[in-house]
Amino acid sequence: MMIYDSLTRQKRPFEPIVSGHVSIYVCGVTPYAESHLGHARPAVLWDVIKRYFIRRGFLVHHVQNFTDIDDKIVARAQELGISVTDLAERHMKEYTDAMNQLRVLPPDYAPRVTENVTPINQFIEELINKGKAYSTPAGDVYFRVDQSPGYGRLSGRQVEDQRVGVRIESSEDKEHPADFALWKSSTAGDPGFPSPWGRGRPGWHIECSVMASRYLGPQFDLHGGGIDLIFPHHENELAQSEAYWGVSPARCWVHNGLITHGSIKMSKSLGNGISLRELLDRVSPMALRTYLLSVHYRSPLDFSQDALLDWSRGMARVWDLYERVKDVGSPSERLDQPWAQRLESFEERLLATLDDDFNTARALAEIYEMVRDVHQGEAAGHAATAYGWARINLLKADQVLGILPLPATVNDPVAHDEILAELLSWRQEARQDKDFATADRIRVVLAQAGWTIEDTPSGPRLVSREDL
Ligand SMILES: [Zn+2]
Repeated sequence: MMIYDSLTRQKRPFEPIVSGHVSIYVCGVTPYAESHLGHARPAVLWDVIKRYFIRRGFLVHHVQNFTDIDDKIVARAQELGISVTDLAERHMKEYTDAMNQLRVLPPDYAPRVTENVTPINQFIEELINKGKAYSTPAGDVYFRVDQSPGYGRLSGRQVEDQRVGVRIESSEDKEHPADFALWKSSTAGDPGFPSPWGRGRPGWHIECSVMASRYLGPQFDLHGGGIDLIFPHHENELAQSEAYWGVSPARCWVHNGLITHGSIKMSKSLGNGISLRELLDRVSPMALRTYLLSVHYRSPLDFSQDALLDWSRGMARVWDLYERVKDVGSPSERLDQPWAQRLESFEERLLATLDDDFNTARALAEIYEMVRDVHQGEAAGHAATAYGWARINLLKADQVLGILPLPATVNDPVAHDEILAELLSWRQEARQDKDFATADRIRVVLAQAGWTIEDTPSGPRLVSREDL
């Protein structure tokens, strides 16, 4: 399994900190406006990464925050004459609804800044104690960039560049222009929280250092976000976490390319963001989801409505095939023909594409090739066998990539009956072989997907957590 790491700028073999586990922190959204298409790309990417790890037998811990207080939220709430909380709640709900439509699994934890102010203050105090940060008479706290020897290595920027590279906040109190805010004093009338430095609110970067380590520990496996977050957000997060813990927080930094529209970065603040809600009203969520996966995650994706519609027509062939085969039985014969052999080994190839830095574009191409093999089998007079494999393979592909327009309730990586049954019998075999570690791993994977194993006199059966 190879993953590209933005810090070392190379693909590296994935070696988890704890064998069989993968811990993931992804920077979440700032809910000050409607979700746009740019939010969907990292969400769908990380959903596939998560499903892939689950399929590979890993126990996944995934944390994605909400930046539910920041300058943009405060300004927008004032404009609308509503509270910061109401504005953030509204847009967090919209975001979550859109993610459900896209069949994005929820993170294990979705912490919010406003619920983490006390630990953020403790973290900042410790940085001040260590000489890594300082407070100013105005009640702001800044991180001391020249106390961070490795600063700039993630983004490849030198501290000297910062004078021109960053929008300098108008503070006379900074020791160095590149120093960045950990705590910002609030003016009267603005939302704020009490702190040892007076009323204020956390700076943007500190929240991720605090929340990632609160939920995942000082070091975790993968840190995600768009490439636009490399500087200053992730550079600063890296500096803060290293200053606090003495170790680099993430083993591997995974950055997705941006969605452009007419080659310009898509963002709400640039005014060219396409509303996710409007788009999901017009196109099938699964067409959009797979379209986002059709380009390698590190490349930019230049959005066009025509390309999306073309893509959707291509996917319709896959969905039509699923409609035709969804009720057929399992293949009853094994054939020597190349198409039949390829159908049998489809999942191996599918997972191999994802082993190579999550190459979802290649994975989708494998699905199209699989559909062609099914047609070959049909033409060769073996429709029943070909359809049997088509059903199995489409469900397997769906489990990892999420490709079929299934009801939103079936958005679970292991929700399909046959896959559940397979996992259950695998666990039984492991128990019979006294391989309790494997049996337990399977139990955990099932539990993660919302299923509990109940041992009954007639053998084990699965109970959905919702039925308990
Ligand atoms: Zn972040």
